[in-house]
Amino acid sequence: MPRPIEALIHQSALAHNLARARAAAPDARVWAVVKANAYGHGIENVFDGLRGADGFALIDLDEAQRVRNLGWRGPILLLEGCFETRDLELCSRLHLWHAVHCEQQIDWLAMHKTHEPHRVFLKLNSGMNRLGFTPAAFRAAWTRLNALPQVDEISLMTHFSDADATRFGQDGIAHQLAAFEAACSDLPGERSVCNSAATLRHAARANGDWVRAGIMSYGGVPDYPERQPEAWDLQPGMTLRSKIIGIQNLQPGDTVGYGSAFTADKPMRIGIVACGYADGYPRHCPTGTPVLVNGQRTRTIGRVSMDMLAVDLTELPESGWGSEVTLWGRGPKGQVLPIDEVARAAGTIGYELMCAVTRRVPVTVERME
Ligand SMILES: *Cc1c(COP(=O)(O)O)cnc(C)c1O
Repeated sequence: MPRPIEALIHQSALAHNLARARAAAPDARVWAVVKANAYGHGIENVFDGLRGADGFALIDLDEAQRVRNLGWRGPILLLEGCFETRDLELCSRLHLWHAVHCEQQIDWLAMHKTHEPHRVFLKLNSGMNRLGFTPAAFRAAWTRLNALPQVDEISLMTHFSDADATRFGQDGIAHQLAAFEAACSDLPGERSVCNSAATLRHAARANGDWVRAGIMSYGGVPDYPERQPEAWDLQPGMTLRSKIIGIQNLQPGDTVGYGSAFTADKPMRIGIVACGYADGYPRHCPTGTPVLVNGQRTRTIGRVSMDMLAVDLTELPESGWGSEVTLWGRGPKGQVLPIDEVARAAGTIGYELMCAVTRRVPVTVERME
């Protein structure tokens, strides 16, 4: 018998979420962002759910190869571009579009031998100060690229630091949007500026020609807890579930788990769940982190161990050995425990939890009808 833990990937939920991105930015094309192995879901597992996108955006060349191996002939964008000169050969061979964010990448292009010129996305650092040319250097970079026979169309992109919230009490994207418009106003080419948060919250102002839907495709709420999944009509793309493999009855004064971090103050019944931090469940989740048992909400108890965690069954008399436990995602009767809620208890964001599910967790794909 395998351990009862598994991750379910809900392809129809992914398709639903992608449709939400389209509805939010009806005049734009949509990149499904599948970097980091589709945010931990597995590129091959999400492909049928997200193949309605106009393109796939990702980081690693081997992931681009995997998308081509699935038969995708449409656009693929490398969000960070190439990391060394020979990456350009794979770009030529696989017809990859790639970001250009630094002078080195232009140098490599200038030396690259290719029959077909490349489509590139020139990246502006509009204020996040991560990747991209400064506004002062942007035009020169564009001019240099535009003169290269290796370059076909040049599109223009930037990335927002605060699309999910306000910034110093002001609009989160206004300063970057203004910098982008100033740097690009008289340059031709398609525009791509929005991540999920900007697509949902600012699309009317900013959607441009291509939006980049990452977390929302997987049902994560980019601006949780300000918004809940229902507010954006997003459905969980992943469920992490397991079962209760042990029961303990506690007396007042009994403690639970490592460090005796929880002490019972009354008679209690707890269940031991086959899920721990070695499965990717965050060890930082404190007592009280929400969890579903047979679809009913309860809480975790004590510290998360490597292979197990404890849940409170005191108020759930029908539950017991073998009961289904939903760590996040969709419960057995359709109840939803947002991954964002669990992430928040752990002091992090849903993105990190999705990406951190480990290899020992078997994955079951619920296929599109
Ligand atoms: C990851 C990434 C995205 C997607 O961001 P989400 O917040 O997950 O929607 C968009 N653009 C770039 C450049 C990225 O690296």
